[in-house]
Amino acid sequence: MSTTHEIEILDSVATFLAREHQHFIGNAWRPSVEGKRIDIKDPGTAKKLSEVAAGGSTEIDLAVKTAKTAFYDGDWARTKPLERTALMNRLADLIEENIDEIAQIESLDGGNPVQSIHHVDIPMAVAGLRSMAGWTDKVAGDTPLSAPQGGGLSYVLRQPVGVAGIITPWNAPFLMVINKIAPALAVGCTCVIKPAELAPLTALKIAELSKEAGFPDGVINVVTGYGQIAGQALVDHPDVNKISFTGSTQVGKSILQSAAATMKRVTLELGGKSPIIVFADADIDKASAAIAREICFKAGQFCAAGTRLYVEKNIEADFVSSLASHLGEVRAGHGLSPETQMGPVISEKQLNRIAGIVERAVEEGHEILCGGSRAPGDGYYMQPTLIRAASNEAEIMEEEIFGPVLCYATFDGGDLENILSMANNTRYGLSSKVWTMNVRTMHEMVKRLEAGQVVINGGGGDVRLPFGGFKESGVGRENGLEGVLSYTEVKAVSIGY
Ligand code: NAD
Repeated sequence: MSTTHEIEILDSVATFLAREHQHFIGNAWRPSVEGKRIDIKDPGTAKKLSEVAAGGSTEIDLAVKTAKTAFYDGDWARTKPLERTALMNRLADLIEENIDEIAQIESLDGGNPVQSIHHVDIPMAVAGLRSMAGWTDKVAGDTPLSAPQGGGLSYVLRQPVGVAGIITPWNAPFLMVINKIAPALAVGCTCVIKPAELAPLTALKIAELSKEAGFPDGVINVVTGYGQIAGQALVDHPDVNKISFTGSTQVGKSILQSAAATMKRVTLELGGKSPIIVFADADIDKASAAIAREICFKAGQFCAAGTRLYVEKNIEADFVSSLASHLGEVRAGHGLSPETQMGPVISEKQLNRIAGIVERAVEEGHEILCGGSRAPGDGYYMQPTLIRAASNEAEIMEEEIFGPVLCYATFDGGDLENILSMANNTRYGLSSKVWTMNVRTMHEMVKRLEAGQVVINGGGGDVRLPFGGFKESGVGRENGLEGVLSYTEVKAVSIGY
């Protein structure tokens, strides 16, 4: 693998990075009261890239009040569903018109390859936004067929929940913000976004484009800042009706506890340790190539990534050799290089954490078959790594590593109960992947794997499907109808005649 730092930045990106970024509240840029700033680094070079304002409870309070006013009194409150559709589609158009600039900013900010942002993240975000724009006039309650006892009419009314607090991570910053605001906007909520302090720049770009698209004042607000200060203030604010959070399970649990004080609605998309099960009848080349690509996608910093691999015993040698050769071919480097397939991890802290877990794995006697070290370069680079775990109870088979580290064990193909219990032996339950040509095995796995998502033979993503986890991988679902309904309240109405 090699790293490269040949970077060509668009003029518009250079201008954007040099801006004195502020919070976006009520369609205007506003500084922090205390004037504090956060340095933003390029993880591919470890150099300062830009800086943003560090907000706290004062800025959050202003943003929430502005969003609350927009929800109840402003132009947005009077907007008709199809006007919301038009605004959302206009935002999607503007994203497409600015795709090169957004992809470069996102790549520099979070380290991910510009090519994959261009071809995966942004198209998914746009598709999600347009799909959600179609829900504005279709969300409805029920009316029972017959009148209630005593006559009259009863029905169920669905209404927007109110002000949505949106807290996003750094691994897919642009996609996460769009995924969360799209259903909120579709049903008529207003939003206060607190992006990750490690990669907040494209949230500010979304804010800028939302104004250009014509969203009224106060509908989309962004406060940048640290999680424990600005994020916590958003979670604690009494006028925020719902929190939608993606990030670590640890912070997700603390948000759930804090939200109890005001009984906020909460959607949590948290960590995972998703199993991949490869049966002997699978297409070995196709499976090994896809599994290698997946662990290198976002340098393994992807909540639904398959990171715990189980290979049927009798194909271990062939499969692992094919997998190691695919991993060895991955072109790692700076995200802006068009050649790069895998970028750096987000920060020095994250790199040290990943390298530390791999070092402990070596000390504990697990076998490194590929990679295993930091990669050269000024930024935070880690080699794609494959480890044969000595036991299914090892740290590397249980803990989310959030780096390009794939750990595997073997199983006996004649014993479905055993492989199911190995795969389900986890506190997480976000995703699971199965490779087999046997239809009976396929359906048995779909039914019994404990995860919010099951992917068979590398099936592609679909923005219309609900996404979320079983067990400690989260609460609720995003995307699809479930995602839309999670931004609504249900009201039971009885009318007497
Ligand atoms: P994190 O959970 O600390 O941060 C995610 C978001 O939550 C950020 O916007 C952060 O500012 C905010 N936040 C932090 N503390 C908060 C609080 N008390 N109240 C409200 N908001 C708060 O994640 P991280 O530190 O950036 O990453 C740590 C680990 O989390 C990673 O190693 C990985 O395992 C996991 N992670 C998972 C995902 C995912 O998509 N599921 C994404 C990022 C990180």
